[in-house]
Amino acid sequence: MAERKILHSDANAFYASVECVLHPELKGRAVAVCGSAEDRHGIVLAKSELAKRTGIKTGMTNRQAKALCPDLVIVPPHHDIYAKFSKRLHEIYGRYTDFVEPYGLDECWLDVTRCNKPSLQIAEELRETVKREIGITVSVGVSFNKVFAKLGSDLKKPDAVTEITRENFREKVWRLPCSDLIYCGRATTEKLKSFGIRTIGELAHCKREFLEKQFGKNGGKLWQNANGLDDTPVSRYGEEEQAKQVGHGVTCVADLSDLEEARAVLVALTQEIGQKLRLLKLQANGVQVTVRDNGLAFESWQEKLETPTQSAAVLAAASLDILRKRYQWKRKIRALTVSAIHLESVEAPRQLSLFGETDEKQRRVEEALDKIKGKFGDGAIRPAVLLGETKLPEHKNGRQAPLPKA
Ligand SMILES: [Mg+2]
Repeated sequence: MAERKILHSDANAFYASVECVLHPELKGRAVAVCGSAEDRHGIVLAKSELAKRTGIKTGMTNRQAKALCPDLVIVPPHHDIYAKFSKRLHEIYGRYTDFVEPYGLDECWLDVTRCNKPSLQIAEELRETVKREIGITVSVGVSFNKVFAKLGSDLKKPDAVTEITRENFREKVWRLPCSDLIYCGRATTEKLKSFGIRTIGELAHCKREFLEKQFGKNGGKLWQNANGLDDTPVSRYGEEEQAKQVGHGVTCVADLSDLEEARAVLVALTQEIGQKLRLLKLQANGVQVTVRDNGLAFESWQEKLETPTQSAAVLAAASLDILRKRYQWKRKIRALTVSAIHLESVEAPRQLSLFGETDEKQRRVEEALDKIKGKFGDGAIRPAVLLGETKLPEHKNGRQAPLPKA
């Protein structure tokens, strides 16, 4: 089989860069996109290159950021505009191949194996074209698999191209820490460290069986990825809607201090998820809740559902139940994400449950609500719980997409 040609293009400081395009007067200034302009509650969602150089990090409070950089310009996020810019990026990528797989709003893999041009040339063209037509910069990784292409796009930023080949990956990749590999999260990195495995090279030289014993199937994946053996295909554009999960998350305007406050947010999140599931004709067999506390530590739990569902009410109840049972409230909650997981197509045979009829009724009610929302907009209907004091926080769409980096 011919060697694959894979690119990974990552927009640099995406939110902040888009803000600078919209407000050219911000160019050359340190800019941070923050959840709220208020010092006490806002946190940094994204920062410009200049802001980054002053030490500002995603997730800091506005006050911390201002302390590091008194000249910092704080702007609120415009998610709908970022989505439009994201589409424009996809359009440029689509000129080269149908195999364009987005990863979050600002990253994409491209499979350009069938293009006649050398992949390095395509990468340079992309970089130039994006800059010229959209006014923002991208970093592009070029490699023979998705994992190394993604890694390559992280190695040099902003506005750069990095190639990782079969010949040079041992020299370029193996000295890097394991956490630079996609899918090697914090818990995995820590566990690897406890075995004395710190670099990707050390990971590559491990016995595969040992990793599988320690990490299950993921251990085998890690070993493959470290050795340049990742062979997962790049999806065709649009196919990624066959999502493995439908998630929605918020960074809260004010930290949540108890279950009652969390309930309001969970209800809001699951409304969006229910709507999206019905749009995609998918139903969930499980729910996952991820919490980031105000010390910025993450925790995540998941549970199976009795029967598959598209119902926001069922998802809300299940996620509330998870939070009630699992979260200890040692700290307040800063950010919450709910994901519908173990998805299947609605056409799949439906099992009758004890609550089958109720669930069906609920589904029809929510379907009707979707129609009204479609006609009159999102604001037309709000669950009663949201009509109280609770302020709806900023939200971002996400598969398991992490907070915007950069
Ligand atoms: Mg980026």
